[in-house]
Amino acid sequence: MAGGIFARRARLLVRIMRLGKPAPRFDDVPQRVRQEAVVAIGQRKLLQRLGPGVMHALIFWGFIVLFPTIIMAMIGAVDRDATLPWLGHQGWFAFLVDLFALLVLLSVCAAFFIRKVQRPARFEGSHMGEADFILAMIAGIVTTLLLWHATRIALGLNEWPASWSPVANALSNLFGGGNGTKLLERVFVWAHVLLILSFLAYLPYSKHLHIITAVVNVFFGRTRARGRLEPLVFDDPDVPEDEIRLGSGTLTDMTWKQMVDTATCTECGRCQDVCPAYATGKELSPKLLIMGLRDHLLEVGPKLLSGAEGADPQPLVPNAVTDDVVWDCVTCGACVHECPVSIEHIDHIVDLRRHLVMAEARFPAEAEPMLRDVERSSNPWGKAQQERGDWTHGLGVKVLEPGDPAPEVLYWVGCAASFDERARQTAVSTAKLLQAAGVDFAILGPRESCTGDPARRMGNEYVFQAFAEQNVETLNESGVTKIVASCPHCFNTLANEYPDFGGRYEVMHHTELLAELVRDGRIEPKPGDAQITYHDSCYLARHNDVMADPRQLVEAVGTPVEMERSGKRTFCCGAGGAHMWMEERGGAINEERVRQADETGAETLAVACPFCTVMLDDGVRTSGSKLRVADVATLLAESIVGDPP
Ligand code: SF4
Ligand code: SF4
Repeated sequence: MAGGIFARRARLLVRIMRLGKPAPRFDDVPQRVRQEAVVAIGQRKLLQRLGPGVMHALIFWGFIVLFPTIIMAMIGAVDRDATLPWLGHQGWFAFLVDLFALLVLLSVCAAFFIRKVQRPARFEGSHMGEADFILAMIAGIVTTLLLWHATRIALGLNEWPASWSPVANALSNLFGGGNGTKLLERVFVWAHVLLILSFLAYLPYSKHLHIITAVVNVFFGRTRARGRLEPLVFDDPDVPEDEIRLGSGTLTDMTWKQMVDTATCTECGRCQDVCPAYATGKELSPKLLIMGLRDHLLEVGPKLLSGAEGADPQPLVPNAVTDDVVWDCVTCGACVHECPVSIEHIDHIVDLRRHLVMAEARFPAEAEPMLRDVERSSNPWGKAQQERGDWTHGLGVKVLEPGDPAPEVLYWVGCAASFDERARQTAVSTAKLLQAAGVDFAILGPRESCTGDPARRMGNEYVFQAFAEQNVETLNESGVTKIVASCPHCFNTLANEYPDFGGRYEVMHHTELLAELVRDGRIEPKPGDAQITYHDSCYLARHNDVMADPRQLVEAVGTPVEMERSGKRTFCCGAGGAHMWMEERGGAINEERVRQADETGAETLAVACPFCTVMLDDGVRTSGSKLRVADVATLLAESIVGDPP
């Protein structure tokens, strides 16, 4: 019966997932096997937080070890004198069972302590009652297992040496060898079996379905660059024009992987805990976003499948999530990095934006000028392209003209460092340092356009793809093979997204190239004693693993001091996801980051991104901080004797 109840629900869930659109997740099998071993079996992402991670890992590993005891108990329930051949007689297995039963029990106690005594804020909005019920069931399962083993030892029915089960053996002293114990042995084994069967029947109706779906979701998790968005295909000859997918409008627009994502959420709140939008009081919680999509899927999916009259796939926005939730996200990726079961929140959010922008022309009004300027002027500042190289005046930087031989390195300046007064300093410093090191480099000048990143993160895939194709054509015609970019957003797009459009280059961030030049002795910084705290840009550290090189540069010119949230666990400056051009609801993310930097006692806040420069400099001004915000390249240029910026 339990199997039937489980199978009936599982079949419904599979049928709902089959409503989803295709997702290219069947490639790169060796990498998928690796992530299964490391993330699912090894529980690596959970262990990022040691206490709760160890607790959860022990329960998970315990269930793997204890799995054969389910069969043993079922055999033992119908025939007291039978067990699994061979394994049921092994002392070492009995020891593992004893040990893990105890560890699972202790872990369940720890879980209750965390939930009931510590009560971390990350559980706000989670279904606590359901989790408590499941934990109580797990405690019941392992307790009855230990008691069953104890009574068998007391009755001399154990097929393994009792000394291999120290816990059950100690408990056996509670029982005599008479009829009462015989009855209790039956009670415990049947209670154990019935609890397991109840658990099986309840599982697919609860969030603990993740025990199964997590294994699937991790296997089909992304294997390609974390900063890359999956391109939409607008010209598939096999798809009629009116069926082209424009992001996620209704649940049937979601991919099957996105649907599995929603069924995998454990409601642990780790994503919510690190989300800068949530931390500053905005409506967005990545956890509630995924839960909202899941609830919608489970409510509307069965109606669609039954073909009930009037059943239609209602819009996801605002039925599953609100407009504000969709627009609050800065695409920093903290949620994705933290999620222990490989849920890809950014893909959900960008797909919701894509539909709102491209199918409904519905987006925050203040972002409209940015999109218009990108389309008309090829940059979000709306400046004339001819002014793009104005920052080079007096520097003697070479501008690559059509037909010129390709330089060793093309410096991709980016719109912010080209047009924003404060961000321009990064470009000037980088150019001076490259010149000092004798690097053969050039810029594209007016032939460089916006990479399309802000339009893409806003949801306008049309505009992004038009710019991607145009820029790739310019770069390929110029014979460029190596690019250095100052902006982590440009860096991410050039390195991870342009290959989808035929642009394959060696792409470096300016801090990587400068660190290489310092290591090679081509730039010799002068050490200083200023305390410098380095802010990791999300698109550099979390999305692209660039963390060591900028720190080497900071160390070369001053005394580094780390913020609590640094490296891959950095906290966004507030500009990502096109938020540079959107009004902010709730608290200011940039001010929160400046507060975190101030806590270190440093006098300088080093950055490696023109957007971070602008946002954090604004944050310093509005919060009254005394910090000086400067790009790592500028600090390096300042340190070189005789070459002030
Ligand atoms: S990407 Fe960043 S802002 Fe967006 S939901 Fe995740 S943590 Fe929050
Ligand atoms: S999305 Fe991931 S991190 Fe967030 S609550 Fe669900 S399982 Fe936890």
